[in-house]
Amino acid sequence: MTRSSETRGALPLADLQRLLDVLQAKGYRVVGPTVHDGAIVWESIRRMSDLPVGWRDRQEPGQYRLEQTGSNHVFGIAHGPNSLKPFAFAPREPLLQIERANGGFAVHSRLPQPEKIAVIGARACDLAGLAIQDQIFLNGAYRDTSYAIRREGLFIVGVNCTRALSTCFCASMGTGPHAQGGYDLILTELDEMFLAEAGSPAGREVLTDIAVPAASATLIAEASARVEACARSQVRRLESSGMPQALYEAHDHPHWDEVAARCLACANCTMVCPTCFCHTVEETPDLAGERSEHARLWDSCFTQEHGYIHGKNIRPAIKDRYRMWLTHKLASWIEQFGTSGCVGCGRCITWCPVGIDLTEELQVLCKASIPAKGNPKHA
Ligand code: SF4
Ligand code: SF4
Repeated sequence: MTRSSETRGALPLADLQRLLDVLQAKGYRVVGPTVHDGAIVWESIRRMSDLPVGWRDRQEPGQYRLEQTGSNHVFGIAHGPNSLKPFAFAPREPLLQIERANGGFAVHSRLPQPEKIAVIGARACDLAGLAIQDQIFLNGAYRDTSYAIRREGLFIVGVNCTRALSTCFCASMGTGPHAQGGYDLILTELDEMFLAEAGSPAGREVLTDIAVPAASATLIAEASARVEACARSQVRRLESSGMPQALYEAHDHPHWDEVAARCLACANCTMVCPTCFCHTVEETPDLAGERSEHARLWDSCFTQEHGYIHGKNIRPAIKDRYRMWLTHKLASWIEQFGTSGCVGCGRCITWCPVGIDLTEELQVLCKASIPAKGNPKHA
């Protein structure tokens, strides 16, 4: 097999099952997008027919619909509510077991069992979101052991998008629709054929094992053209050129009140966001008072409790919380981590029950603040 066939192969649609078989033979639990209760959710799969063949998603602010098109496209859907986040940053992670012992307490750390999981169908925005989570949980001042164990077992098969949703704006964020990295293998779906490209030594090994022929220059060019067309078709964009200053200057803008009047503080936007990492801890003691479990749970800056510190709620109004979320996500995140906290997946727009759209809110909030528009400060 030539070097190029090790890194870029032509995988016929009919042979996609071979990829699943090879991954399972290597000991991975294979997880992919499946149709469940009217939405796309990650579930364990064994066969190609478990994937959402022929399904397509329609997403609008506050709306999500699946429809069957009758086509044989395997990855016609873009994404469901969950990104890759739960695979590494678990929604509930037991951390410690505390029990009475010898008149005092014994504390035992709880770590997840290592598991090899191959996730098929991650999008460019999902990969960009996971890279941000890695930066927070692995590459910062404190390495999170539970996250590291879960992350270590992941093998990721990405899929480049060839169809954009009306809510997508990854092209304007520079994160997609062509995946920038972070995958072991990446597929681009064409008619009856995939371009399969390896992104890691483990991915190259899998590509060699499924024994695909080298991709032709025509196939590579066609795949690239379809992804570029997808980028051009995106109707939303987020204007981030004036960040972080533009949003800092909008701190007292009256539009925050208008958004707050619509926001329900339900926290959906933060639960579906691939980059949000707020969490809390809870104790679960047994009824006998002998032992207690200390666990970490996803939390949201939209809840009353999250803003409660030392006898005072520092963000009592919904306006405070929405402003805090958007300003962190799009402005102070840049100073904290060197990137935007938004990867342009559009999930918070779709899954907001009242259809609040951060791209529109930002336009109003920063319209007069963005230097490119000619006036450095809003009124
Ligand atoms: S803020 Fe919204 S669009 Fe941006 S990454 Fe989070 S969920 Fe996706
Ligand atoms: S912006 Fe929408 S999803 Fe987020 S808390 Fe408010 S109502 Fe819920």
